[in-house]
Amino acid sequence: CGIVACILNDKEAAPVLLGCVRRLEYRGYDSVGIATSSSEIKIKKDKGKIGEVQKMLDLTDLPGKMGIAHVRWATHGLPTKENAHPHTDCKKRIAVVHNGIIENYRELKDELQEEGHDFKSETDTEVIPHLIERYMDNGADLEEATRLATEDIKGSYAIAVMSMDEPDKIIGVRKESPLIVGTGDGEYFIASDAPAILQHTNRVIYLNDNEMVILNRNGITVKDMDGVVIEKEIDTIDWTP
Ligand code: GLU
Repeated sequence: CGIVACILNDKEAAPVLLGCVRRLEYRGYDSVGIATSSSEIKIKKDKGKIGEVQKMLDLTDLPGKMGIAHVRWATHGLPTKENAHPHTDCKKRIAVVHNGIIENYRELKDELQEEGHDFKSETDTEVIPHLIERYMDNGADLEEATRLATEDIKGSYAIAVMSMDEPDKIIGVRKESPLIVGTGDGEYFIASDAPAILQHTNRVIYLNDNEMVILNRNGITVKDMDGVVIEKEIDTIDWTP
């Protein structure tokens, strides 16, 4: 029910992401998880309150300066460790967090399973990393593969995606689920809402439906679903911690 992602300059991502998802707790949730990327994608996740899961797993103990995080409000599949986000593709080279509902996930899952994709959860979300994997295996880059995947899915979504094949990049897309972008000094964020990241930056970009944001070390690009760059305004939120 809430997502956060970040690319940081000189700090480890996991402790920052944990702090951010704590500020999404008010939305209600049943599970929490973080994935970071360094030389590989590492994930810690489980059902339960953030405090409980943190005590059990130490979510801050994950290497890397970029990552994605999620607090889940289960819609498809019970609150379990397997169903908690982030979800990955078969090769664990792509990780995705998602808010919302994929209405046609059943058909997509059947199709992907027939193609040999192995699923680990009962969620609707898990079709997304497998769709992206399918398109990357066919030669698309992460941005194009994410765009093609969102063309396949029906429903509502805010997603954040990262891949080992294109390190230092995070892609976000929204349709009928909130998603904002935060821009700091060489630090970039995506989040479901501003309070999650205000601690780190008060300069935000509000995404509209069917907009994609690409974060990398050099900055932020927003595009429409045809891949055309959109000039967005940066809003400054007046806020004192
Ligand atoms: N539909 C997804 C799930 O059940 C995402 C739920 C959410 O928005 O937290 O895992």
